[in-house]
Amino acid sequence: MAVSVTDRFLRYVVIDTQSDAKSPSQPSTEKQKDLGRVLVEELLEIGVADAHLDEHGYVYATIPSNTSKNNVPVICFCSHMDTAPDFSGTNVKPQIVRNYQGGDIKLPGDRSQVIRTADYPVLETLIGHDIVTSDGTTLLGADDKAGIAEIMAAAEFLIGNPDIKHGTIRILFTTDEEIGRGVDKVDLKKLGADFGYTMDGGAAGSIEDETFSADAVEIAVKGVAIHPGFAYGKMENAIKIAGDIVARLPRDMAPETTKGRDGFIHPTGVSGVMEKANVSFIIRDFTEEGLKSKEALLENITKQVMENYPGSTYTFTVKEQYRNMKVVLDRNPEIVEYAVEAIRRAGMEPVRGSIRGGTDGSRLSFMGLPCPNIFAGGHAFHSPLEFVSHQDMEKAMNTIVELAKVWEERA
Ligand SMILES: [Zn+2]
Repeated sequence: MAVSVTDRFLRYVVIDTQSDAKSPSQPSTEKQKDLGRVLVEELLEIGVADAHLDEHGYVYATIPSNTSKNNVPVICFCSHMDTAPDFSGTNVKPQIVRNYQGGDIKLPGDRSQVIRTADYPVLETLIGHDIVTSDGTTLLGADDKAGIAEIMAAAEFLIGNPDIKHGTIRILFTTDEEIGRGVDKVDLKKLGADFGYTMDGGAAGSIEDETFSADAVEIAVKGVAIHPGFAYGKMENAIKIAGDIVARLPRDMAPETTKGRDGFIHPTGVSGVMEKANVSFIIRDFTEEGLKSKEALLENITKQVMENYPGSTYTFTVKEQYRNMKVVLDRNPEIVEYAVEAIRRAGMEPVRGSIRGGTDGSRLSFMGLPCPNIFAGGHAFHSPLEFVSHQDMEKAMNTIVELAKVWEERA
């Protein structure tokens, strides 16, 4: 008997795998390997013979091809094992609301934690589902242990049903995604995949092939410092210059005033004394032109402010962070098209979306592994209200199986 995707999920969420941005090591926390070791053991058990944990805590494994066609591309399914540092992941006590009949869900461990239909209208689409939550004192870890359970269940299903033909499938479980280091130590040569899919999205049926493009900007201001008692007509206080720049930022171009496909300029840090000040920004947009025009705008604001301070100087440094993966995915449109087809075959209406952020996939895409993001079924990520439905995890597992089939059929 195959283990259900939810049984797997319940096993994984009780293992604490919180990552830690302050730790310089990889994995950032040793405990992430506790889950990695369990996954390797389970993969070996279901017959994935090469499953192993590497020194960075990644799990690599291969489901060998069982088709006579030798031109089926090698595809990779990827999920991350860590949970977000934003909320405790220690001692997770999963709860199951079986055959959910609508209404708010009160979490038993903390009466103040209620998953309200008003806040999560998606609940209306989950009537009759079995919904897994935490007890309200921790996050659940559906982000992204739902993805892991789905890939594991799909692996078991494919190996147990050899009549389903597929090419070589690589499995990759990463560490430290939540602290932005998920793919730092991935060995793409060893992985040997043509492209991949992260199973790390939200609602059933969704697929994301676009992320923000992202730069960081650092403005360093040098003012004119002088004893305040002798400052008349001479002092140019760098703190005030920095303040002037921030005050002139367009209000309709901020994270709190934009949504959908609009980008923003966002100050993330300021430090300074009279003599010098630094302001850090992140710039986000879906297009390269949008990114560049926002940077030009910011530099213009800086120049205008500096005109009032003739004795002061500034430097303006742009650092690339990541790029919209759509640029890469558009070169191989079938990667997303086949995923859309697989979602449809698994019984859902596909919904294509864009992420106001980055994923492991956005970096992998530019490292040479084009990698859109497929739903894993979870909601309210990084919070004690996190929840996922058993039926949606099954749909994600079926999507993986259908996707493997589509690639074999069309090769
Ligand atoms: Zn995630």
